[in-house]
Amino acid sequence: MECAFCDQESETALHLILSCCFAREVWTKVKDWTGLPIIIPSSDELSVEAWWTRNLKDLNGERRPRMAGFLMYAAWHLWTERNRRVFVRKNLLPSQVLSHLKEDVALRRVARGSPGFESELV
Ligand SMILES: [Zn+2]
Repeated sequence: MECAFCDQESETALHLILSCCFAREVWTKVKDWTGLPIIIPSSDELSVEAWWTRNLKDLNGERRPRMAGFLMYAAWHLWTERNRRVFVRKNLLPSQVLSHLKEDVALRRVARGSPGFESELV
């Protein structure tokens, strides 16, 4: 099966979540929005695990789980967008994927009663 985003590469988890041009655009937007030191994946990442580890290795204390949380949110939303394209036949833009991610973060904040958005960030 070809990638639901670019239709040019085989659909692997590595490609969908990191290497695809669409995914990299979403990661760039997440980085810009959060201000987190997210390493934007390259088009030839070797593994999701290696990239994940590189992102977390220099973070201590609370910064580490916060970064991990945002990485998971973004990966989850990329997977959800892939499913939307495959099963609903609807395509969102990277900016719209980011909007969904923001809504989720805001909902979680309300559910947890967190004091403010800043507390979500490093
Ligand atoms: Zn692709």
